[in-house]
Amino acid sequence: MELRLQRRADNERVVRRLEAHRWEGEAAIVCECTDPSCLEHLDVTRAEWQRVRGNDVWFFVRPGHEERGERVVEADERFLVVEAG
Ligand SMILES: [Zn+2]
Repeated sequence: MELRLQRRADNERVVRRLEAHRWEGEAAIVCECTDPSCLEHLDVTRAEWQRVRGNDVWFFVRPGHEERGERVVEADERFLVVEAG
């Protein structure tokens, strides 16, 4: 969970910079999975970010990076939204 929160904090920093420059279109954020070796990014729109980030236990991960048994809340070709248990 700690790694995941770290990644979310990194993404929040990226988004704050984008917001300062009027974020339009998609932005690349880091995958919020629990694999320490993962270096992948995924693209999200501002609306997607705001919707998912509004829920403390939801995280963006690349398809296939969900943990076994983790609930997938939303599936897109660019990302999955998973609910941390
Ligand atoms: Zn990942």
